Amino acid sequence: MSQGASTRRDPHEFRELIREFSGEDIGCCIQCGKCTAGCPVAEDVPFMPNQVIQLIRMNDLETLLAAPTFWYCSSCQTCSTRCPLDIDIAAVMNTLRLLVIDQGHTPAETDVATVNKVFMRSLNAHGRVFELGVVMNKNIRTGHPFRDAGLGPAMFAKGKISIRPHNIEKKNRKRIRRMIANARRFSDRGQR
Ligand code: SF4
Ligand code: SF4
Repeated sequence: MSQGASTRRDPHEFRELIREFSGEDIGCCIQCGKCTAGCPVAEDVPFMPNQVIQLIRMNDLETLLAAPTFWYCSSCQTCSTRCPLDIDIAAVMNTLRLLVIDQGHTPAETDVATVNKVFMRSLNAHGRVFELGVVMNKNIRTGHPFRDAGLGPAMFAKGKISIRPHNIEKKNRKRIRRMIANARRFSDRGQR
């Protein structure tokens, strides 16, 4: 693991940042490993969920943000429901993704970060996700404009995707935008 932790002034800086963003205090983790035991992606990532928690406690932001672990998290919540200390590990994983984007770090898994970004833009614009727009936008940004194009006709035929976005009611769209703006403002505070 990197020595980044030893060079930080406040040894709890990273943990506090996570607590402020997610509301989760991971200081009570007992490293029982129950979160990792149920995680469907644990075997395919460099740091398993309990190790992610430990890296946060070690204040080792550099090591953690350079690893793709949390980009592969599917937000299935298994870890959160298993934790005997009621730590919402899934929320911590999501917070780590937001931190990478909001603090201008280079994501270790750029395609997932791109999906995240275009997904949020779509939500902000329409109040709900316009699937075709998200896929096309993501494909263009990642340099694979025709990826999964073969699936399109069958999905159109079954009504699974539409060629036009469906906006939700205007007043609810405004509420969604307000929520996103508030979340951004909150994350901006974490950078100060
Ligand atoms: S289940 Fe909870 S207490 Fe156990 S290692 Fe995971 S985060 Fe820590
Ligand atoms: S929410 Fe993420 S970290 Fe937790 S069990 Fe599911 S995939 Fe693993």
